[in-house]
Amino acid sequence: MSVEFITRSNFPEKPPKNLTLESTLKQLAVFNFQVESSYLAKDVARLFQAHPLLPGVILTQNGDFLGMISRRRFMERMSRPYGVDIFACRPIIALYQIAQTDILILPGVALIVMAAQRAVQRPPEQLYEPIVVQLEPQVYRLLDVHQVLVALSQIHQQATWYISELYYNLSVTQSELEAANCQLQSANSELYRLANSDGLTQVANRRCFNEYLEKKWQELAENAAELSLILCDIDFFKKYNDTYGHQAGDACLQRVAKTIVEAVNCSAGDASREPLVARYGGEEFVIVLPHTKPETAVYIAEQVRVWVKKLAVEHLQSEVGCVTLSLGVASTFSRSHTAQKDLIAAADRALYQAKDQGRDRVTLDLGF
Ligand code: GH3
Ligand code: MG
Ligand code: MG
Repeated sequence: MSVEFITRSNFPEKPPKNLTLESTLKQLAVFNFQVESSYLAKDVARLFQAHPLLPGVILTQNGDFLGMISRRRFMERMSRPYGVDIFACRPIIALYQIAQTDILILPGVALIVMAAQRAVQRPPEQLYEPIVVQLEPQVYRLLDVHQVLVALSQIHQQATWYISELYYNLSVTQSELEAANCQLQSANSELYRLANSDGLTQVANRRCFNEYLEKKWQELAENAAELSLILCDIDFFKKYNDTYGHQAGDACLQRVAKTIVEAVNCSAGDASREPLVARYGGEEFVIVLPHTKPETAVYIAEQVRVWVKKLAVEHLQSEVGCVTLSLGVASTFSRSHTAQKDLIAAADRALYQAKDQGRDRVTLDLGF
């Protein structure tokens, strides 16, 4: 009788570690117990007794694979009434032919997960039959189903761990990306704000005004809609600086700028869409009023003048005793200005007139 018992790793207690979804039956420990079909059943019984974990034996006929008899099936036949009397002294093939059942034969390259699936899909009475693994042509081994299920559970654990790890890493990466994106966005908007606002007064700067006027000019030209412009200049500001100092002058510019914004926001209302207040330079401010007729622009300019005057910033060197504004209004409505610079020049002309006529007033360029 040729009997061989081989193990790979510590079989049968533990299947090899690091099993994955791609692991195959070859990686598992297999039994190599083969008996010729002519051997007596009592010798096979001794074999099972000597190796309590042996799940079955492979039967060969003249060295060729014949089949497999499991320990369970063997014991079940032998323990029937007169089982020992009938079979013990007869060749094992006699018992095998009576107790024969379907055998699950799988190649050594079969995936463990697939093998487990095939094994548990068998009818209940065959569930615990060992699997025959064909490692090579004519090379057969036995695999305990329990071993396959333990391996499957390891693979499952590994896969679950891997997926949760992957998910964790993904969520970390995602939240890091979101945080970085958030920082980038706020850095960008801060950069945009710095690039477009005036450092002292915090209203839009001259660069922003130029871009905005250009943009609106194009838009409104397409829609043949009007656009008005107000140039504001603080009266006698040089004298203010001379009297109260440059720092007070700066503070005054800040208060005036803030008040212009408030007055425009309050008075423009529905009459003007998306107005822009910008520092034009020095003590001059400019207000862009898209979709605004000249009479509305004059009204808004007048509101700005009144609001600034109501601030009542003391200016004893001025004719009225407080800080005031002169404002020049121009509109594409009152005259067809062919270029933006023409509109600015018209507002500047109106402002000059306001100064000339005594300051603290609003003048509309009528385009003559
Ligand atoms: P007018 O009524 O004709 O406008 O007279 P004005 O004195 O206001 O005009 P002028 O152009 O003669 O003087 C403007 C002054 O504004 C001179 C300059 O020192 C002052 N100024 C310009 N920019 C700033 C600034 O950023 N801070 C301060 N404090 N003063 C400024
Ligand atoms: Mg000026
Ligand atoms: Mg001035």
